[in-house]
Amino acid sequence: MKARGSKNPLENNSKYEKIKDLNAGAFGFVQLAKEKETGERVAIKFMERGHKITKYVAREIMNHSHLLHPHIVQFKEVFLTKDYLAIAMEYAAGGDMFQYVKHRGGLEEVEARWFFQQLIIGMDYCHKMGVVNRDIKLENTLLDGSKRPLLKICDFGYSKNDKDSVPKSKVGTPGYTAPEVIANSRTYDGKLADVWSSGVMLYVMLFCEYPFERPEDAGDPHRFQKVLERILAVDYNFPTSIPVSPECKDLLAKILVADPAKRFTISDIQQHPWYTKDLPAGVTRMNDECLKLKDHTAGYQTVEDIQRVVTEAIGASKTLMNERLIDEVMDDNEYY
Ligand code: ADP
Ligand code: MG
Repeated sequence: MKARGSKNPLENNSKYEKIKDLNAGAFGFVQLAKEKETGERVAIKFMERGHKITKYVAREIMNHSHLLHPHIVQFKEVFLTKDYLAIAMEYAAGGDMFQYVKHRGGLEEVEARWFFQQLIIGMDYCHKMGVVNRDIKLENTLLDGSKRPLLKICDFGYSKNDKDSVPKSKVGTPGYTAPEVIANSRTYDGKLADVWSSGVMLYVMLFCEYPFERPEDAGDPHRFQKVLERILAVDYNFPTSIPVSPECKDLLAKILVADPAKRFTISDIQQHPWYTKDLPAGVTRMNDECLKLKDHTAGYQTVEDIQRVVTEAIGASKTLMNERLIDEVMDDNEYY
């Protein structure tokens, strides 16, 4: 992703001041900023106001705002600038996992396990809070700035809409998409699709390549189709050049299963010997503690405040629809 250098929606903002661009995707861009009063650094994601702010965007903002967990980038608040809906959140100073893994050319098994454990704990918490991510991948997991970095899930699909959930219209690599999502995007179990993606992510951490892509795909106009076909056929191998333990391969083989009913669940993963090895003490109780805070609004704003800002971002032309829109946003069960 390319950062767009010239934009500064925070110009004249009374609360925040831009420090620098961080990254940009197809649907928005992210900047590092400073809260003027406290000096605290925050990441702010900007999305153009108007028709691009769909009910799905609104839903994901509501979802994210309820989450409070060490492995989830902390939502802070939403606000409006002249042209953008802005989402202020915790700044993860260690960059994203994609850059981290690429820079190292793949991770040692021990380090991959450390990140995978954190990913699973974060995902488990989201699922128990009724939130599926639907876009688990290295690019959507960030690292804090500490020496032994903590992983934080960052992207709650603000930029997705219904059509974008179908892999063919999705930007970036299709390589993380579960077979059932390719086959039928409307009725899949989002939790199990997330588990599949976590398996792909573990694979990429270890081997620094995508399980369903091949070097010979480069330049092939049917490359995309080929990847989808391999996913449907669960056609992947373990590169022999990189030694990985049989336990790790066993876990991967139980996650990358085409039939979601036969695929490992998060709870199965959490009992697998590869996963439980070196699991930090107290981790198994962590989510119970976090879930006790269930009714807590994690950020600075009330649910009503968030709704008001998002509704305004959608624009006056849609005011008649707003009531219905908010109802739909609040109906978190649509994806289960
Ligand atoms: P998109 O929907 O465009 O994929 P993301 O929320 O994934 O947006 O953010 C895009 C990129 O911006 C991330 O891959 C990461 O590099 C950077 N980024 C996003 N949120 C943060 C954050 N809280 N701290 C630091 N960098 C971030
Ligand atoms: Mg992203």
